[in-house]
Amino acid sequence: MSKIVYLNVPAHGHINPTLPVVEELVQRGEQVLYYNTEEFRPQIERTGATFRAYPETTLTSTTLADAIHDGNLVNVSVLLLRATEALLPFLLDDLAREAPDLVLFDSTALWGKMACNILSLRDASSISTLVLDLPSAAMSPREMLGLLRQALPKVPAILAGRFRLVRRYGPASFPPGDVFPVRGGLSLVFTAREFQPDTPLIDETFRFVGPSINLQTRGEPFPFDEVTQHPVIYISMGTIHQAQMDFCQQCFEAFGNMAAQVIFSVGKHTQIEQLGPIPANFIVRPSVPQLEVLQRADAFITHGGINSVHEGLYYGVPLVLIPHHIEQLFNARCTKAQGAGIIIDAQMKGRRILAAALRAAVDILLSEPSYRAGAVKVQQMLRATGGYKQAADEIQHYLAQRVANP
Ligand code: UDP
Repeated sequence: MSKIVYLNVPAHGHINPTLPVVEELVQRGEQVLYYNTEEFRPQIERTGATFRAYPETTLTSTTLADAIHDGNLVNVSVLLLRATEALLPFLLDDLAREAPDLVLFDSTALWGKMACNILSLRDASSISTLVLDLPSAAMSPREMLGLLRQALPKVPAILAGRFRLVRRYGPASFPPGDVFPVRGGLSLVFTAREFQPDTPLIDETFRFVGPSINLQTRGEPFPFDEVTQHPVIYISMGTIHQAQMDFCQQCFEAFGNMAAQVIFSVGKHTQIEQLGPIPANFIVRPSVPQLEVLQRADAFITHGGINSVHEGLYYGVPLVLIPHHIEQLFNARCTKAQGAGIIIDAQMKGRRILAAALRAAVDILLSEPSYRAGAVKVQQMLRATGGYKQAADEIQHYLAQRVANP
């Protein structure tokens, strides 16, 4: 039995794909100590891993959501650097005491990489997003300019954070070159290689294991007996962005008079009672068992978070993509390139998402078979990967190499 430490960030989208992997490792007899904030204890403990709480820092699911609220991902980099400063002293103590055989960290958990560098621990990362390399991503000059405008005001805070870390822990502790995605000696990416555009960041340490989906490890109660009409349209803007009141109203207007069943996950912070009259063909919930809903869905209106994209396409459901920031736009373009979705870019342009655009996009998805065919093509691509079992194989293989070459 090996001792594995998993360091992750407090975000469903980063944790969800790791849960089946951890459960598989535990079932194969490995010991896993999984660090996160208290909020995520229940789902982590359900895998059989030992949950360890991070000390309280400014990094919580709420501060992450706030940082990303205006679509500026650079805010997240600042938050992650601060969290690294706050978490490292605690982690260095814990990891020195635990002496794990392997430290796995999420590709945003810089503290994991730095702790491994400082303590000379064997490391591997899991990348729950696509591998996004902005310089080689096909972006228009206007998009590049927009990104620069977002990034420039944050540069002093990023440089200062980096400077403090390097001064305290030495230059060798900090990853050279591009920091994000933070990579380990092995980097697991939860997508299919064919879905991921080429980038020079990908090297021989990368393994594309595909979406990590296990129905057994998910699921929550849902009134499926109330799903009586067809087609089924599923709407979710994910767990970080809240479905705004105006967006909810536009959805009601777009689909309230349609002969269709609409399942709408509005997020845990949206006050459903304040939404006003809900059309009879809608089921509105703060959260739904997304994998089970997708198995019944004919179209999925999503913000384009990578887990939602993968999960929708894994079940062959064509997507209407409403990206809120550059990473989701990238995911949306990869989906569109496969003929599996339509992009509404209003949110990226700071405009309202209107009922007419939503209805038109769904009508096209449902009436043109090419979109379903595109989604089924990606479904086959994703299902040809080994998923969470392959991830567990890769991790165990990597651990075995150490025994062979101590
Ligand atoms: N999810 C869920 N029920 C919901 C909404 C979301 O189970 O009602 C899950 C979804 O299956 C996915 C994750 O939350 O695994 C959302 O991740 P994604 O990367 O799509 O978006 P994020 O929330 O990180 O923006």
